[in-house]
Amino acid sequence: MAESSKYNLIVIGSGPGGYVAAIRAGQWGLKTAVIEKDAKLGGACLHVGCIPTKSLLFNAEVYGYFAKAKEFGISCENVTLDWAKVLARKERIVRKFSKGIEFLFQKNKVEWIPGRGRLVGPGAVSVEAADGQTRNIEAKHIVLATGSEAQALPGLVPDGITLLTNRELLEISAVPASLAVIGAGAVGVEFASLFASFGTKVTLIEMLPRIVPVEDEEVSRELARSLQKQGIAVHTETQVQGLEKSEQGASLTLVGSGKEEKMEAEKVLLAVGRAPNTGDLGLENTKITLDEGFIKTGEHMETAEPNVYAIGDIVAASPQLAHVAEAEGIVAVEHAAGRDVHPINYRQIPGCTYCEPQVASVGLTEQQARDHQEGYAVKIGKFPFSANSKAAVLGAPEGFVKIVSDEKYGEILGVHMVGPGVTELIGEAVMAMRLEGTVQDLAHAVHAHPTLSEAVLEAAHAAGEGAIHI
Ligand code: FAD
Repeated sequence: MAESSKYNLIVIGSGPGGYVAAIRAGQWGLKTAVIEKDAKLGGACLHVGCIPTKSLLFNAEVYGYFAKAKEFGISCENVTLDWAKVLARKERIVRKFSKGIEFLFQKNKVEWIPGRGRLVGPGAVSVEAADGQTRNIEAKHIVLATGSEAQALPGLVPDGITLLTNRELLEISAVPASLAVIGAGAVGVEFASLFASFGTKVTLIEMLPRIVPVEDEEVSRELARSLQKQGIAVHTETQVQGLEKSEQGASLTLVGSGKEEKMEAEKVLLAVGRAPNTGDLGLENTKITLDEGFIKTGEHMETAEPNVYAIGDIVAASPQLAHVAEAEGIVAVEHAAGRDVHPINYRQIPGCTYCEPQVASVGLTEQQARDHQEGYAVKIGKFPFSANSKAAVLGAPEGFVKIVSDEKYGEILGVHMVGPGVTELIGEAVMAMRLEGTVQDLAHAVHAHPTLSEAVLEAAHAAGEGAIHI
């Protein structure tokens, strides 16, 4: 094999896990290549996930301000939405950051090899280019970072016309008159909120007893109440048992609480989870073990195959989030490079949903804390945004900050928020937990006035001596 085809590290996949791992390896002088099957770098997060959805959700937020302009003493008539321009803005943002990864690869001497990568033997990867040509390359270490795709359901296979995944809905040529969203996790709720803001009649359908089911129960309740107030129909404990094409788009049969109900929607979004891209990676040539298609790893992201790591959405028992993929990428490279490794504390991973109102959380929910084997003396501190002056100024008084703590030493076990700007506020809670701060530390850290962050301060007071402003 030519010397030029031998690397210290090969990364398969250029999503947030893969490209961050590659950049770190390049910074440390490792000869690094990234194999990417798509024509652009950045993966699902940049092209069909985090960034395009947040771009459209910001349009929805701006549009929302126009809708309630009167409340601010501003009159504006004939507010219209130019959907083509909304999509073009999103595309510009995505392109800029995809080009940014190309630039960072050049800067850090990371080679981008277009094609589909497969493991073909110890330290060996085949790359199949778009024209079908295949070549083999070698590396001491390999990082698998092939991400995930929308999960289909039996009888509900997306057709790209009526039954859509996030990919097609992000490219839709016009705002649909009606939309049924199957699955009320973060992805489903974000799309529901986004299109409802633009005037679409939205129905949210969830099989489990509550929406955003991984969140604290009180957060789910508050969000459901708010979405319903915005006109979104929320069906929990409901399954879609049939979907047929109809004149309007689709006719859905919903079954919940023993009742069967029909509904029509122009478009249907399937948002029932993400399936790992591990089916065509040559894993059968390795010792790698799987759990329902997800790769099992140790705390250094190492798989059962020597010198092969897995990171991001393909990892078993790891939250499918971009920042988790990035952090796992760095851990894998630290280990491969023989540096100090900083394993991830999965109890300190923030999760954010950028719907209106936003949701953010870290750590244990109240129920998880109460059920925990440690036998915590659970103490809750809660503060509503309705009593926060900055939230009033913003005209966004909905929601709350809730801190779950252990009364013994004031340990912060979890923080749960729903309301304005909480996806930014959660960083404070993550840092407090990382530094093993207590509710007393949070309560004695002086917070600027007037800010939304005072709701965090007040929730900490509430978990200790009592909130002041309520
Ligand atoms: P991916 O980003 O999926 O990238 C994998 C890459 O590998 C792709 O480019 C793919 O083409 C490539 N690939 C696959 N197989 C091969 C192969 N054999 N050879 C070569 N290349 C291959 N997370 C957040 O943290 N915040 C959010 O706001 C957020 N919003 C989201 C919104 C939506 C609609 C969706 C669907 C997801 C969202 N996520 C969000 C989740 C986030 O996108 C993923 O967790 C993240 O992209 C995972 O990164 P990854 O590197 O593991 O894989």
